[in-house]
Amino acid sequence: MPKAAFPGSFDPPTLGHLDIIRRAAAIFDELLVVVAENRRKNYLFSARERVSMLEELAGGLENVSVAVCDSLIVDFLQKQEVRLLIRGVRGVNDFSYEFELSMMNKALDSRIETIFMTTAPEYFILRSSSIKELASFHGNVSGMVPPLVAEALKAKYR
Ligand code: ADP
Repeated sequence: MPKAAFPGSFDPPTLGHLDIIRRAAAIFDELLVVVAENRRKNYLFSARERVSMLEELAGGLENVSVAVCDSLIVDFLQKQEVRLLIRGVRGVNDFSYEFELSMMNKALDSRIETIFMTTAPEYFILRSSSIKELASFHGNVSGMVPPLVAEALKAKYR
């Protein structure tokens, strides 16, 4: 299986993201985790912080690397010579959004193939935005994010 890319905001990475990373890394020869940096979006963690968390979390996986993309993902993939795009889906709402996105990417570059991976049942409800909200009220996010992310969230909302 050739090289695949898994793009996302990862603001911050959750156990759901990590599960997709582990499972995709077991299928594809190489997996490039792509951290989106969109100037119009307000992230809690900088691109550098998100990359460093993901690098640490994927440290044990030899075929996983992490990069930042501040352009259109199809342009980025062309430059990296990657044609396979992995997206995680938690349910039908994710799927309808992801499906449209994949159509858009296909219209921009017909060589791109989007591969959907379903979430694991235990990570079904994990969403970075809700986890940030919970953390902002000092709620317990262990069991939703890896310990290093829980610590980073604590530090942000101290
Ligand atoms: P989110 O804010 O929804 O977590 P991201 O942009 O960081 O969004 O997500 C990147 C990719 O990871 C998307 O394909 C998204 O559907 C997927 N993803 C996010 N959370 C999960 C999860 N709990 N299980 C499976 N896939 C997920």
